[in-house]
Amino acid sequence: MIQTAYKTARWWREDTKGKLLCTLCPRYCRIGPGQSGFCFIRQNVDGRLVSTGYGHPTGFAVDPIEKKPLSHFLPGSGVLSFGTAGCNLGCRFCQNWSISKARLDERNALSVAPQDVVNLAKKYRTPSIAYTYNDPTIFGEYVIDISRLAREQGIRSVMVTSGYIDKEARKDVYQYIDAANVDLKAFTERFYHKLTFSHLDDVLDTLRWLKFETAVWLEITTLLIPGENDSQEEIGQLCDWVMENLGEDVPLHFTAFHPDFKMTDKPRTPAATLDRARATALQKGIHYCYVGNVSDSSGQTTYCPSCHMALIERDWHQVISNRLEGNTCPSCHTEIAGVFS
Ligand code: SF4
Repeated sequence: MIQTAYKTARWWREDTKGKLLCTLCPRYCRIGPGQSGFCFIRQNVDGRLVSTGYGHPTGFAVDPIEKKPLSHFLPGSGVLSFGTAGCNLGCRFCQNWSISKARLDERNALSVAPQDVVNLAKKYRTPSIAYTYNDPTIFGEYVIDISRLAREQGIRSVMVTSGYIDKEARKDVYQYIDAANVDLKAFTERFYHKLTFSHLDDVLDTLRWLKFETAVWLEITTLLIPGENDSQEEIGQLCDWVMENLGEDVPLHFTAFHPDFKMTDKPRTPAATLDRARATALQKGIHYCYVGNVSDSSGQTTYCPSCHMALIERDWHQVISNRLEGNTCPSCHTEIAGVFS
């Protein structure tokens, strides 16, 4: 299980004054000798960029796939989940900040080779591995090496990400990925710029690319924060964009915020806000919309978009019943979008 020297990073070039330009995400950090990029885990060591996160997860868990959240990808299955330290966004409301904001030396990271990650998935009999908890974009080299081995051995791979990634690098990082849940954190540049230190257009571009230029199964999550991104107008615009740019079959998850990290002055998201957002999405024509981080069985159930039969009933992250026949509704035989086997 031992990983040795730092892995040379894949996406960078030399810049002026001894600095290195990291080209993995649209932040394009210029990193001086001995320094790290914004995400902490990409470092200029002796004139080469290294990934200090490669081979160093902060811990593993077997989660329900519904927790990622993915509702149309192997429902009811477990997924081996891990992340590393660091993150390429600076979300003030981060719900996982003890990992994402940590430097590696603060996290007691493990040393785990790619095949050992795959072996863990086999040991715990999970059909998939999720790169999650922090943003897996920043440990893209590790993702590629694990997901390639996993695919060879019949195990699927899932990215849980903000989608803030360079156009060229993403072609490499996603080549063996089977599903992704991408955070669409809001639908204003003001929110992205002020509260995440990133940009909306880059994320929208990744969403379109995933949907139309890859075979990756795609779902989207928006964490609704009272007073920041939960207006009826903004939710309506977000749903319109999804319909026009991605189509009716990309599932949308609206999840509840809790006060955390640098945003402790906002209340929890009321259940009524989630209900209203879900109703808006369905009224706009989105076929599958879910609420999360609350107990709401009806808002977490998959319904047939044609006859409205309850197909996969859930409570929180648990599947209560699954009536799908393959990928079709047993009542009206409508095909349900997703990966069900
Ligand atoms: S991946 Fe990290 S080091 Fe590279 S540009 Fe993004 S934040 Fe900077």
